[in-house]
Amino acid sequence: MASNSEIPKSMFAWRKHRGNPEPGHEGCGQIVQIGPEVTGTKFKIGDIVALHAVSGCAMPDCSECSRDLSQICEIGHHSGIGQDGFYAPYAAIESRGAVLVPEGVTPAEAAVATDAVTTAYHAIHRRGEVKASETCFLFGLGGLGFNALQIVHNIGARVIVCDIRQERLDEAAKLGIPSSDIVPVGKSPQEFVMENDLKIDTVLDFVGTHQTFEDAQHIVRRGGKLLCIGSLNTENVIHMKIGTRKRLSYIFSYGGQVRDLEEVLQLIAEGAIRPQVKPARLEDFPEILKQLEEGKVESRIALMHD
Ligand SMILES: [Zn+2]
Repeated sequence: MASNSEIPKSMFAWRKHRGNPEPGHEGCGQIVQIGPEVTGTKFKIGDIVALHAVSGCAMPDCSECSRDLSQICEIGHHSGIGQDGFYAPYAAIESRGAVLVPEGVTPAEAAVATDAVTTAYHAIHRRGEVKASETCFLFGLGGLGFNALQIVHNIGARVIVCDIRQERLDEAAKLGIPSSDIVPVGKSPQEFVMENDLKIDTVLDFVGTHQTFEDAQHIVRRGGKLLCIGSLNTENVIHMKIGTRKRLSYIFSYGGQVRDLEEVLQLIAEGAIRPQVKPARLEDFPEILKQLEEGKVESRIALMHD
């Protein structure tokens, strides 16, 4: 919210001491200072705002921002993605990247909303254009995938879920996904779709392994869509014959935009989406990182400054 010359001094001290850019690309904070170039009455000191990490440069001659692709703009600041982010005690961002957090949304929820929910929302609504009449097949119920499940559920589309972890499938069941729409652990998705005579309109691949991408091309109906978000394997095989004969759409998605974040925060406030996130203290970061490596973190943890 402040211009560069007004970034609180502590931020520079912190940067100098650490040497590396401060991480943290999902942020929520309280406004402590507003730069003189910020006009209007939208924001005031003390407001709690969700912070979008990449809101673009907004220049009319930017090849990405001018085509409504702010999330892949290379000119604007990338908070916490190779550049200083939100784990710093103070962060400065352009006002276009800040969204007021509505009543009923916790700061931890608002922080994960900025990417883990917004990325899923952008993929499903803007890229996949998923409709209520569709049957979707969702690979992966992790940090993004579980939010995706809630977003598709909220649209009213049927969603078949698949994950290698039973506890994640149990979470989907708690959300109201019928057992007939949950692929049992160890069951082949291709067999499941065939045996249940399912017509999959859209596959949402939040995993992106050789296996999920392979299965996706086989299980999607003719004329269907493959929505690619996860990229656990950096290279996967596209079957040209399947893609052309079935006339498939392979759709890739990356990140989301501020307008997605605004809509997402509203949905969280209404209770339509409940991001899975637990708060913890920033100083416990090394211990939490260890838990993450050991697979003990179920979804997401929000690190809070005291
Ligand atoms: Zn730009």
